[in-house]
This record gives sequence, structure tokens and C-alpha cells, in this order.
Amino acid sequence: MPELPEVEVTRRSFADRIAGARIRQVRLGKPLRWPLGCLPAQLEGCTVQAVRRRGKYLLMDLDRGVLLLHLGMSGSLNFAASLPAPGVHDHFDLVTDRGVLRLHDPRRFGAVVYAAGEAAPEAAKLLEGLGVEPLGEGFDAAAFHTALKRRKAPIKQVLLAGDVVVGVGNIYASEALFLAGIRPTLSASRVSRPRARKLHAAIRQVLARAVEKGGSTLRDFSNAEGQSGYFQLEAMVYGRAGEPCRVCGTTVRAIRQGQRATYFCRTCQKP
Ligand SMILES: [Zn+2]
Repeated sequence: MPELPEVEVTRRSFADRIAGARIRQVRLGKPLRWPLGCLPAQLEGCTVQAVRRRGKYLLMDLDRGVLLLHLGMSGSLNFAASLPAPGVHDHFDLVTDRGVLRLHDPRRFGAVVYAAGEAAPEAAKLLEGLGVEPLGEGFDAAAFHTALKRRKAPIKQVLLAGDVVVGVGNIYASEALFLAGIRPTLSASRVSRPRARKLHAAIRQVLARAVEKGGSTLRDFSNAEGQSGYFQLEAMVYGRAGEPCRVCGTTVRAIRQGQRATYFCRTCQKP
């Protein structure tokens, strides 16, 4: 599943190139997770002003309204001067005078949704409830600790829930908890202030580095220019069950939390 760094890397790979482009045509494939919310023809003639990100949504500002794009479980975007005819898994093409933006999504959990504005109900219902941006200035260590104190669930699941801090998915939650030395099963309410501070820094570090490295290749990720990332080569614990911890040599363990796999080192990560 594309996580925040992949979405941010995708955004950076085409945002500048598509800004100012005029939409000529919208082609829809099979239904995605949610309907577009307008007639494709209504978007013709609109100009793309900017592409922003909120959580794992890309917000494409138009001169009339906004398009929200989500990559779902298996989506990827490609933006190129021209593209071959849409294939069986290409479900959305935004044809502009600068090139074609295509959503390729075999599992079709992704979506493109039009809203009259960010505050319009179609957009608000997707964006409301999202926690603070982990890479933004609003992500504050003290406020993070206060929010964790109110939650009894295991810290890993609180991170994944996305309402305290948004976009820390399975890979990066495992990695950040390793860097902070915190056992993923520890109740969030029992994370001390100093450990919350360490975790805050670790979340920022692991996400910023993943963005810098171009995202993860764990699920065939590639950005909108077709370049793949390579964060997985550096994972400390994620996907390494049975292998020695890179710090202490203890065998990395895998457990299930919710429906997700969690990886940790029993020696480096204290309950
Ligand atoms: Zn270790």
C-alpha cells in the first residue's frame, strides 16, 4: 500500500510539471472506490493550479474546484507527454495540454473525487478526522505526548489509526518505534514524555528519509516518472522476521497487531 512518503514522492514528481496545465479531456475506466462526483466533461477547460498533499490524499487545485486523488492499495500515477492507450488497469486519465496523468490501479481501492472546494462535503468527509501532518510544523512533541496519554491501545495501532498523526503506515510505524526503542505493544498511554519525544523525532526522521530516498519499493512503488524508490533496502526491522537485528544481533520478531504484521527487536525495544 502506498504510504505517505510514496504519495509525497509521487506529488513532487509531477506537481511542478502539471501546474498551469489545461484539462482537455477526462477518461474513466472501471469504477474506483468512490465515484468522480461530477461529469467528466465538467472538468474540461479547467486549469490545474497546484498539487498539494494532505495525509495520503493528493489535492489538485483547479481554477474551479479541487480533485482529490487517493492511491488506495495498489494505485500509482504516471504523468507523461503521451501515454499508450489505457490498459485494463488504467481507470483514470486526465488529458491536459502538458501531458496525460494516468491512475493505474489493479485493485481499484484508489479514487479520484471532485469537490467544489476543500470545505465542500465531498472533500470534507474524506479529509476530516485526519491527524496532524508528521512532516509539518504543526506536529509538536509535547502535544503528541498529550494525545498519546489519552489512548489505551498499543502505540503501534494508535500510530496507524491516523487521528493523532496522519500517514504513519505499517512500514514506517515499525521503523519509527525501532528507532525510538519502544515495544509496539506498549499502551500509548504509558509512553513517557522523553520516549514520546524520541518517537516524535523518529517518525519525522524515518518519513523524511523515505521521501528523500524516493519512497519504498515494497509494493512495486514507482513515482509518476516511473522511477522506483529503495527505502526497503535500509529497513531496520520491517520485513526482517527471523533475521538478526542490525544493532544488537537479536532475532527480529514478527507478531500480528490488528490485521497487520508488526516487526520488532525484543532487546532494542523496551515495553
Ligand atoms: Zn536489537
